[in-house]
Amino acid sequence: MSEEKSLNFLEEIVQEDLSTGKYQKIHTRFPPEPNGYLHIGHAKSICLNFGLADSYGGKTNLRFDDTNPVTEETEYVDSIKADVRWLGFEWDGEHYASDYFEKIYGFAVELIQKGLAYVDDSSAEEIAAGKGTPTVPGENSKFRNRSKEENLNLFEEMRAGKYRDGEKVLRAKIDMASPNMHMRDPIMYRIKHANHHRTGSTWCIYPMYDFAHGQSDSIENITHSICTLEFEVHRPLYNWYIEQLGIFPSHQYEFARLNMNYTVMSKRKLLQLVQEKYVDGWDDPRMPSLSGMRRRGYTAAAIRNFCDRIGVQRRENIIDIGLLEFCVREDLNKISDRRMAVLDPLKMVITNYPADTTEHLDSENNPEAENNGGIRKLPFSKELWIEREDFMEVPAKKWFRLAPGAMVRLKNAYIVKCDSFTKDGEGNITEIQCTYIPESRSGHDTSGINVKGTIHWVSVPTAVPAEVRLYDRLFKVEDPSAEGNFKDFINPESLEIVQKAWIEPSLANAKPGEHFQFIRKGYFTADEKLSVPGKPIFNRTVTLKDAWAKEIKKG
Ligand code: ATP
Ligand code: MG
Repeated sequence: MSEEKSLNFLEEIVQEDLSTGKYQKIHTRFPPEPNGYLHIGHAKSICLNFGLADSYGGKTNLRFDDTNPVTEETEYVDSIKADVRWLGFEWDGEHYASDYFEKIYGFAVELIQKGLAYVDDSSAEEIAAGKGTPTVPGENSKFRNRSKEENLNLFEEMRAGKYRDGEKVLRAKIDMASPNMHMRDPIMYRIKHANHHRTGSTWCIYPMYDFAHGQSDSIENITHSICTLEFEVHRPLYNWYIEQLGIFPSHQYEFARLNMNYTVMSKRKLLQLVQEKYVDGWDDPRMPSLSGMRRRGYTAAAIRNFCDRIGVQRRENIIDIGLLEFCVREDLNKISDRRMAVLDPLKMVITNYPADTTEHLDSENNPEAENNGGIRKLPFSKELWIEREDFMEVPAKKWFRLAPGAMVRLKNAYIVKCDSFTKDGEGNITEIQCTYIPESRSGHDTSGINVKGTIHWVSVPTAVPAEVRLYDRLFKVEDPSAEGNFKDFINPESLEIVQKAWIEPSLANAKPGEHFQFIRKGYFTADEKLSVPGKPIFNRTVTLKDAWAKEIKKG
C-alpha cells in the first residue's frame, strides 16, 4: 500500500482486522451469477475484491453464484473467466455454489431439526399477503407449527420430486413482526423442475440467494464478503443463518455500486439489447460489457485505472462516462503508434512533384513513447488522399487549413499551397491541385515559411482500403432508465460504418486488437473478431477530445 493515498473504508476495516489479529489472512471472493456477461460495474467489484487481497497478502475466490437453473449457462461461465483474466486478475479457488447444494441441503435439515425452519404449502400470493408491510406486522402462516418430523419428511419429499413448482417452499422460522421484512420467515428453498447447467436434473429444489450466498462464503472461509448497498438490509439475515448454524463467521460489507450515465448496467436490460438485436451481441463495441469494451479497444489498464480513480464509497452516485473515456485516452496515448488514415477522402494532386516517384519519409511512431517508438518509412507521392473537411472552397474566418491560395503543412512531409480545384457536374469538389515547397521537408525545413495548419494524408498509389466503424454513445440521454422504456432512448446514430477509408500501408497488417492513434482522428483498434491482416476493420475506440463536452458547453 502506498502511504500517501488515504485508505478507503474497506481498506480501513481490513487493516483493523489484521492488526487486532481477528484474521491472520483475509479471503475475499468475486461472486457473479452466470446469467450474462460482465460489465463495467462488475469491474469495480473485481478490482475491489482482488485489489484488497493483493494489497494485504490475501486470497480471492471466483465463485459462480449459480443457484437459479433457469437463467444460467456455461457460455456465461466461460466469458466471465476470460473477462476476469483479461482485466488482469487470477483467482485462487474456482467454485460454484451448485457444488455446495448437498451441504446447503444439510444446513437446511439442521435448521429444521433445531425448529428453525418449516415447510409452507401456501401459494406465493398467500405468502406475500401474509408478510405485512414495513409498518404492519405480518401474520404467522398456518403451517408454521408443523412438527420437526413432518417438516423433515415433507422437505425430503420436496427434494425427491413429489411436488410441482410452487406447491411448497421451505421457510426460516424467525419473526413475522420483525421491522426488517427480510426477517419475516424468508423463503430458503423453492421447487424448480429445471435443468441446471452443472447439476443437470439432480435437483428440483434450489436454495434462495440468502440461503446460499452466506453459506457459500462460510464454506470457503471468506473473511470479507463485499457486496453492493442494496444487500445492506439482507445483512441481519446473512448473520442469522451463520449464527444459527454455527459455521465460519464470514462478514458482509456493502459499498455503492457503479452507476454511469449514458448507459444501462443491468444484465436483464443488456440481455434485451442482445436478444432483440439492438446490438450485435454481448461484445458489441457499444455495450458496457467488458468484452464489448475490449473489442472497442479499451485497455484493461485503463479500466483498472478508472476503478481506482472512482474509489469506493458508501453512498450511491453517478459517474460521468467521460471519466472512463479520459482514462482510455490517457492509456492509449502512451501505448498507441501514430498512423495516417483518411476517412472521407478528397484527392490532392501536387502538380510540381514528379510522377512515378515515391519518397519514403521518416515518421516517428509515437512521440509519447521511449525513443519516439521508433521510425517508420511513410510513402509520399504526387497524388494524395486528404480529408474532405480539410478543404474549404470559401474559407471561414481563422481557417488555417486548405482553401484556394492557402498553405498547410502535410504532416511529416512538405508545405503545400492550393492553386485550384475541380468540380463535377453536380458541383461536388472532386480534386484539388497544389504545389509543394521542396525545401520544406519536415525535419529538414529551410524554406523559412511558417504555416499554421498541419493536416494528415495518405499517398494514393500505396493506400490500402479499410472499413472503419465509428461508434457513439448507445443512448441519447444521461439516464435511459429514469422513465419510460429504456430502449426508446437508444441513439440511432451510435454506429456509422465507413466502408472505404484509405489507410497508410503499414496499417494493412494490423493485428486484431492492436491499438493506433489515427492522427487528428482518434484512437482506433483493429477489430478482434472481424479484422484480418490484409483486410483490416478498425473500431474507433475514442475520439481525441471529448466531443460531448463541447456540445454541452455550446448548449
Ligand atoms: P445485474 O443487476 O447487472 O444483474 P448483479 O448484481 O445481479 O448485477 P452479479 O453477477 O450478481 O450481478 O454480480 C456479481 C458481483 O458484482 C456482485 O458482488 C455485485 O454486487 C457486483 N456488481 C454488480 N453490478 C455492479 C455495479 N454496477 N457496481 C459494482 N459492483 C457490481
Ligand atoms: Mg445478482
